[in-house]
Amino acid sequence: MEQIITRFPPSPTGYLHVGGARTALFNWLYARSKNGRFVLRIEDTDIARSTKESVDAIFKALDWLGIDWDDGPFYQSERLDIYKEYIQKLIDSDNAYYCTCSPEKIKRVRESNIALGQTPKYDGTCRDKRLKKSDKAVVRFRADNFGTTIVEDIIKGNILFQNSEIDDFIIQRSDGMPMYNFAVVVDDITMGINTVLRGDDHVSNTPKQIALYRALGCLLPVYGHVPMVFGKDRTRLSKRHGAMSVTAYKDMGYMPEALINYLVRLGWSHGDDEFFLKDDLIKKFNIKNIGISPSIFDSEKLLSLNADHIKAAPLERTAICLKPFLEEKNVEITDMSYLSAIAGTLNKRSKTLLEMADGAMFYLESKVVYDKKAAEKFLKLNAYDCLSFLIDQLKQLESFTQENQEEAFKKVMDMTGLKFGKIAQPVRVALTGKTVSPGIFEIIEVLGKERVIKRLEEALLYIDSKR
Ligand code: GLU
Repeated sequence: MEQIITRFPPSPTGYLHVGGARTALFNWLYARSKNGRFVLRIEDTDIARSTKESVDAIFKALDWLGIDWDDGPFYQSERLDIYKEYIQKLIDSDNAYYCTCSPEKIKRVRESNIALGQTPKYDGTCRDKRLKKSDKAVVRFRADNFGTTIVEDIIKGNILFQNSEIDDFIIQRSDGMPMYNFAVVVDDITMGINTVLRGDDHVSNTPKQIALYRALGCLLPVYGHVPMVFGKDRTRLSKRHGAMSVTAYKDMGYMPEALINYLVRLGWSHGDDEFFLKDDLIKKFNIKNIGISPSIFDSEKLLSLNADHIKAAPLERTAICLKPFLEEKNVEITDMSYLSAIAGTLNKRSKTLLEMADGAMFYLESKVVYDKKAAEKFLKLNAYDCLSFLIDQLKQLESFTQENQEEAFKKVMDMTGLKFGKIAQPVRVALTGKTVSPGIFEIIEVLGKERVIKRLEEALLYIDSKR
């Protein structure tokens, strides 16, 4: 069987949008699941709108998602000679011709078509003039006016187009730049692309592209048009429905695993399964299970999936993802195993890494910052004895297992006659600065003997200072 070669060809005119990322993911997964190749191509012939920043933003987003490519990145702007060669082939075979109709004239024809309720079409003025190349001339494709074109779509089934709807479209502008449909076909042919999975907003381009393949005598790729993603209100996805840029999710503390999982489920399913990691996806992905109805982007679902991925990720992995959020808060991380242990106490209570970073601060501060109300309520004279008894008990412990700690707290309860909760709250404030935190035994274990004793002693000093 021929090796599957797919591609992702973004236009670098902004950030990588979640819809574009889904297209990239489907093509990547298909290639990976079939031991194929995945090509990255930057469609930057629209010089006025393409920017280097957008190209970098696309790379950054793909890199974060872990979508890697085997060939490329190819830049259309560096392939102009290839397009010229193919333009010449089409002209030589009489499948294309030069046209010098003025934009004003084209506009007039268009307006009169629309006024008559017809599809706007070029009227063919230059079709048989056999004009030579000139400064103002565009190149048009000589399209078939009769019959039909069937797009055999592996997702949607056969889609029929009347050729009479397709006019002699422009394939090269007067400045020599290729037009989208033409450049895509030349690239897909020369890059050996045999599978094109893309958003169904491109369906109407496909018969034009098929016509170009035929005129060039090349085999068609397999096409699959993926239904669009809509917002909850069933309108085209936009900023109103939540952040649209992939890297915005990175910045908001999403795990790339969660976004990948969420994106693949926008259109693809595997029974009732909801939770997927990349390796399962590579095993399970097939085009057959891409649905035909539009999917709905639901940012709450994505958030809850993020919480699930944070919960499920190995702690070492969570620590790696968490580190930049702490560095952003000017916390330097030197001990990754301490950070993993910290993550282990927060991963069931954090929906995002940003939230986890906030929750992790108390572990990492060299001095606990007391919440004012918490300190007023719990770090009072009546807590002094119980904290100092606890220090004595903990100092004697070799290790801070749950059992050892329970034993130590029990002794303090016996000595003071206080219930567990009455002891735990001042201890919590002494160790974390707050009244809400992960379980007290967990915290003590993770902080370790040195930090715990130091913090409890500092709390005693604080209480003393308020006498
Ligand atoms: N550059 C086009 C886009 O970003 C690619 C379309 C295609 O896959 O052919 O929409």
